[in-house]
Amino acid sequence: MNDCIFCKIIKKEIPASVVYEDEEILAFDDIRPQAPVHTLIIPKIHLASLKEASPEQAALLGKILIQAREIARLKGIDATGYRVVLNTGPDSGQEVLHIHFHLLGGRRLGWPPG
Ligand code: 5GP
Ligand code: ZN
Repeated sequence: MNDCIFCKIIKKEIPASVVYEDEEILAFDDIRPQAPVHTLIIPKIHLASLKEASPEQAALLGKILIQAREIARLKGIDATGYRVVLNTGPDSGQEVLHIHFHLLGGRRLGWPPG
């Protein structure tokens, strides 16, 4: 996707503070952090949202969740806890149409979310 901002980050056309990268996944810190730790974890394939995901991508999405746990450990919030958020569609407030998991922590997070 030529006009996708996260695809541009994957291609290093836009700088980002990369936390983790492998062949399938990229994780980088959110540009407008909502908590002391706010990292976005994305697949390198362009997929607009959970709505577009297919059962064949279950392993990839599961791998992202397991990597979120590892990034929480690297960021030092595994003991205090964290939240992984996957916004999908207009009511969720999803702004970027490249599927991304938010990893949030480092402070007490409110519930229910706003
Ligand atoms: P959404 O609202 O779609 O679930 O979350 C999109 C997130 O991407 C927001 O938290 C926003 O701050 C972040 N974001 C948008 N553009 C950029 C960017 O160019 N770089 C980084 N690092 N984060 C971005
Ligand atoms: Zn994309």
